[in-house]
Amino acid sequence: PKYVYEFTEGNKDLKDLLGGKGANLAEMTNLGLPVPPGFTITTEACRHYLEHGRNPDGLDAEIDEKLSGLEEVMGKRLGQPDNPLLVSVRSGAKFSMPGMMETVLNIGLNDESVQGLAAQSGNDRFAWDSYRRLIQMFGKTVLGIDGELFEGAIEAAKRAKGVSDDLHLDTEDFKGLVSTFKGIVAEQAGRPFPTDPREQMDLAIAAVFDSWNAPRAVLYRRQERIPVDLGTAVNICSMVFGNLGMDSGTGVAFTRDPASGQQGVYGDYLANAQGEDVVAGIRNTVPLGDLEKIDKTSYDELMAIMETLENHYRDLCDIEFTIERGKLWMLQTRVGKRTAAAAFRIADQLVDQGMITREEAISRVNGDQLAQLMFPRFDESAERRRLGRGMNASPGAAVGKAVFDSYTAIKWSRSGEKVILCRRETNPDDLEGMISARGILTSRGGKTSHAAVVARGMGKTCVCGAEELDIDTKNRRMTAPGGEVIEEGDVISIDGTSGEVFLGEVPVVDSPVVRYFDGEIDPTSFDADDLVRAVHRVMEQVDAERRLDVRANADTPDDAARARRMGAQGIGLCRTEHMFLGDRRQLVERLILADTEDEQEKALAALLPLQRDDFIGIFEAMDGLPVTVRLLDPPLHEFLPDITELSVRVAVAESRGEKHENDLRLLQAVHKLHEQNPMLGLRGVRLGLVVPGLFTMQVRAIAQAAAERVKAGGDPRPEVMIPLVGTVQELEIIRDESLRVVSEVAAEQGVELGFPIGTMIELPRAALTAGQIAPSAEFFSFGTNDLTQTVWGFSRDDVEASFFSAYLEKGVFGISPFESLDLDGVGRLIRIAAEEGRAARPGIKLGVCGEHGGDPTSVHFFHEVGLDYVSCSPFRVPVARLEAGRAAA
Ligand code: ADP
Ligand code: MG
Ligand code: MG
Repeated sequence: PKYVYEFTEGNKDLKDLLGGKGANLAEMTNLGLPVPPGFTITTEACRHYLEHGRNPDGLDAEIDEKLSGLEEVMGKRLGQPDNPLLVSVRSGAKFSMPGMMETVLNIGLNDESVQGLAAQSGNDRFAWDSYRRLIQMFGKTVLGIDGELFEGAIEAAKRAKGVSDDLHLDTEDFKGLVSTFKGIVAEQAGRPFPTDPREQMDLAIAAVFDSWNAPRAVLYRRQERIPVDLGTAVNICSMVFGNLGMDSGTGVAFTRDPASGQQGVYGDYLANAQGEDVVAGIRNTVPLGDLEKIDKTSYDELMAIMETLENHYRDLCDIEFTIERGKLWMLQTRVGKRTAAAAFRIADQLVDQGMITREEAISRVNGDQLAQLMFPRFDESAERRRLGRGMNASPGAAVGKAVFDSYTAIKWSRSGEKVILCRRETNPDDLEGMISARGILTSRGGKTSHAAVVARGMGKTCVCGAEELDIDTKNRRMTAPGGEVIEEGDVISIDGTSGEVFLGEVPVVDSPVVRYFDGEIDPTSFDADDLVRAVHRVMEQVDAERRLDVRANADTPDDAARARRMGAQGIGLCRTEHMFLGDRRQLVERLILADTEDEQEKALAALLPLQRDDFIGIFEAMDGLPVTVRLLDPPLHEFLPDITELSVRVAVAESRGEKHENDLRLLQAVHKLHEQNPMLGLRGVRLGLVVPGLFTMQVRAIAQAAAERVKAGGDPRPEVMIPLVGTVQELEIIRDESLRVVSEVAAEQGVELGFPIGTMIELPRAALTAGQIAPSAEFFSFGTNDLTQTVWGFSRDDVEASFFSAYLEKGVFGISPFESLDLDGVGRLIRIAAEEGRAARPGIKLGVCGEHGGDPTSVHFFHEVGLDYVSCSPFRVPVARLEAGRAAA
């Protein structure tokens, strides 16, 4: 195969092979934009290298050939002593992984060619600055030397001179640093810095390949669910220099604001600097707009290029560029990451600008982003003490205890604390700490700093560059301009939307998007927020596209009403267990303690009217829409007092000689009902079979409530759902009893009642015998929580706290199967049950209840296997609507 592509040979659709950076460099080259010439080594070569520990046959020869071609075009050889060609060796995988993979600049410099570079450029300082950068980057990324050693040496050089800015270091200082750096390399790596340019390049290429498996890259991929075996491409790009003087510089730009989505000029620029300096927060950048005053020609050209790119990609692009002595060069572009709000706004703007269609717009947003927009905000009317303000790098409202290093962030969050990670700036080693924190606060760096980029990618609240806050990580404290000192463990609140930082816990309120879903904001009124309008338009489109219905899990009239406002088309799961709690516990105790049938009946009779009233309210809230009521599911002992508590009560009463007849009987009952493994015990349909009259009482309550609603002119649509069925016989017994009760009630009340009776499919056996069950079930509802428990043999209540973090860390799975459906295992069973259920009973209604019903990836799967509806918590209903629409589009 061909392993090396010149930039002129690739294009943007070759991301699998050339990585994102390489494919887009090629695309820009072909668009005629000023890209320094170069070539890309494919991901295929990387995969071969990683698998076999060496380059594939033919790769080296191909590199030789492309390098010669490049040297010819550039009119100089790599590292040529009197006039060196220098290159950068840059990683670039299919998915961008900010800061994860390493880049080495200025390859080709050594003691001789540095003289040639100085002579050619007429700038000694620049040449030696470039040389020390090479040794520094090469030492760090290729030879794995601790970067702090080099940074420490630079700090020492500045201190010796009494300056604070690297702009004040001169040629002699850089010469000194070169020699110091060489010493560091020799000592730390046990080998001298390689002076042969081609060896530098080959080692750098291998290092880029190897960096695919660097621990933090592995962690990032797991977080972002990027497949582990893609590998990275390597880009060899001829160098252009932003560090040639004040008429040179480097910057990053966005065609729209990645934080808000607004149109305008967004980016950062740094004069007399090389690439990394902008994002590293070494010096303070200037806003991109200022470039117009610094170098109008380059600025105008950049603006024109940005327009070209946006029209070409039809989306927000981000760009890395360098200006070398007044000449603009494009070094990178890609469709840029953005916040949730920006995603919706930009999609809407692009439709208005005629760049994309409404159908396309829904592919530009996703359910995770919508969920983020529904997060609560800080209450602006609450009294708040502002400590300072930084940049609004990634939106959200986060409250937590201030911690000043990643280790503490991880440790504290493991023990259940909410923390805000406060750092001067973050680097890739902070990744795990950032993941575990509620929010991230830095005192340095702009919107393109590591903290900002990574936080946006993770959807995590971030305020960056809050310079007025003095973050002292050594002493674990931070000082505000007002003199307040925040010690480790003090609670702070950070607002990623406004950039503000507050002392203590600020109360939160509903977001405008939630208020829109709640019907409090009219999205069509002319002063409606453009974000609300954008969300509204997307929702209209997805509702038109989707095939799946979306229902909600709701157990109370209030929840049902809210779910309906959020767009639920019924209730897919109405749990009845809460109807046995609170004051009603006594009645349940009576039921359980009943010795005779008569007592039992009395207890049930007392529960009946209470349940009926519960249902009336829910049917009223969901009038005209289906309400799937699940008969009692949990084990009875959950309704009884705690065994220890009860034992103590009995013992105390005994020692005091008090009466304790009832407690004693209760204790006996608790002992009798005690199970080693309640999750697999007496619950669900088994209760219905073992406790006479329990399920029929519930069905009677449902039927009576429905009758009442009918008489009141309503349109109740109950569906009765039997949980935890493993075999059709269980279902048939309960179904027959239920049908009898329903016709009894219909006769008593003189109304016509007929409603579907179906079952949950939540045991592997039920799924595997769905063909036998279907003839007796008018619907299936997949209970994916229990199905996941029983398919994996995981106790949901225990595993998350006990070994899931280890599983996630070791990459056994990238996300908990309770959060996102395990498609291969649990999904396969669902597919089998859906197919065989349909074959046995064409037209059987199929749905899913359980939190997976609101999980984006899972929703796409449910669409694909042809379910009729998903059901999720009221708050996730809009997310499920959105994803159901995207799945169908
Ligand atoms: P990342 O993937 O971390 O963005 P890049 O490969 O884009 O890494 O390189 C980091 C920085 O180095 C870029 O911002 C770019 O400005 C600079 N850079 C890379 N290659 C060159 C080059 N050939 N000439 C000048 N600067 C370069
Ligand atoms: Mg880059
Ligand atoms: Mg269940």
